[in-house]
Amino acid sequence: MSFLEYAPAPESRAILNLRDEYGLFIDGEFRPGRGESFATISPADEKHIATIATASEADVDAAVAAARRAHDKTWSKMSGRDRGKYLFRIARLVQERARELAVAESLDNGKPIKESRDVDVPLVAAWFFYYAGWADKLDYAGLGPNPRALGVAGQVIPWNFPLLMLAWKIAPALAAGNTVVIKPAETTPLSALIFAEILQQADLPPGVVNIVTGAGATGAALVRHPDVNKVAFTGSTPVGREIAKAVAGTDKKLTLELGGKAANIVFEDAPIDQAIEGIVNGIFFNQGHVCCAGSRLLVQESIHDEVVDRLKSRLSTLRLGDPLDKNTDIGAINSREQLDRIRELSRIGEEEGAERWSADCVIPDSGFWFAPTIFTNVQASHRIARDEIFGPVLSVLTFRTPAEAIEKANNTPYGLSAGIWTDKGSRILAVADRLRAGVIWANTFNRFDPSSPFGGYKESGYGREGGRHGLLAYLKGAAA
Ligand code: NAD
Repeated sequence: MSFLEYAPAPESRAILNLRDEYGLFIDGEFRPGRGESFATISPADEKHIATIATASEADVDAAVAAARRAHDKTWSKMSGRDRGKYLFRIARLVQERARELAVAESLDNGKPIKESRDVDVPLVAAWFFYYAGWADKLDYAGLGPNPRALGVAGQVIPWNFPLLMLAWKIAPALAAGNTVVIKPAETTPLSALIFAEILQQADLPPGVVNIVTGAGATGAALVRHPDVNKVAFTGSTPVGREIAKAVAGTDKKLTLELGGKAANIVFEDAPIDQAIEGIVNGIFFNQGHVCCAGSRLLVQESIHDEVVDRLKSRLSTLRLGDPLDKNTDIGAINSREQLDRIRELSRIGEEEGAERWSADCVIPDSGFWFAPTIFTNVQASHRIARDEIFGPVLSVLTFRTPAEAIEKANNTPYGLSAGIWTDKGSRILAVADRLRAGVIWANTFNRFDPSSPFGGYKESGYGREGGRHGLLAYLKGAAA
């Protein structure tokens, strides 16, 4: 039962000034692609937003050539201080156009406007501000005796945080003196193309950043291009593996940010109110389309029933629906393909004997939707405890002792993140020390800051993004 009825509070789309068609952004201007163009749609109602160009191999070649020229003639000759000025300018323009970017992101991705407005876009600006500050300090940052740019970076990003992943890639690359060719995901190219307009507004020299749209084949052409010096990829583990093979034996530097299956560990002495909010934020933020999502809840047996009951009541208060409505908590699933995958893994979860509970929400008639779902009675061997679902689905497992919690948490091929909820500081330190995960949150979850390095172990990839460490991946002669 809901106690309060909310009137619709949609954010206006009037702020958007979209084109019907978008070309590729190469050498500072938009130009047509030679591949077959495609539509980007809103996952909330499946309506057409714009027609997007596909970059063919020849287009990728032109983009890499533009990036090479810009690197050799302009960007590598510029002082760090001047590079920093451009990055500061981009950060300020992102802030100025924040509302427009947030609306575009929610429209194209399906995420709630309150997340794109309050999390994604502010973090994008923060990332550019942060790396703007590093651009003139590379020689004094303990990055080795003579840190120099690698050259041209080829970057491929996923659809879950389209603009934020772009910022994670572009900001450190430019600060370190590299030029960039980046490929956004095929279901979410819109905010990257608006970002291209921001680069024009910022007067960034042509060719320093090139944006090529298209699907996997465009990404493959980019990472295989012989004149690319550095490959940075965020996406699924299978594609990451393919890219690692393609790059093997070349002198390209590679960083991979891949999938995850994080354990969110709740001890019986945890502050339960905060833990419930943390669990919800851990797996239902961004519809669970989060590589570091707390998708495996490990809860101490003595508080299992209480935690599950409270989670169910909390989930019953979440509002699912129009991503542009300011009251929406759960937006749309990004694509039909992703929805099918979530449905399939959930079906397997039931088939393997786990118990399913889904919040009772009204599912809109069109678009891609999945109600927040909890599985209890989950065994470590179940697919829903092992595979990344990448959706609003939580698998609940129990433990009795800290040693058992650690063993279960580490029992995964991934190692991107983890959470620990307990009243005891000493336990946080002792457990964190034994978890094989790149990022560990204590009594919180899904917090991001540009100064904090992020990255994984095992099948979650290698290399770190963010912080001073994030610069290492873009520099020659740099040591940690
Ligand atoms: P995906 O691997 O299918 O696609 C990612 C990007 O790679 C897209 O731009 C796609 O077009 C491109 N691509 C596809 N095939 C390619 C190929 N052969 N060569 C080069 N590029 C290719 O992943 P997705 O479904 O878009 O994203 C979801 C995945 O991303 C999840 O597994 C998630 O965990 C992961 N992810 C990881 C992080 C992290 O930082 N570790 C962050 C966000 C998402």
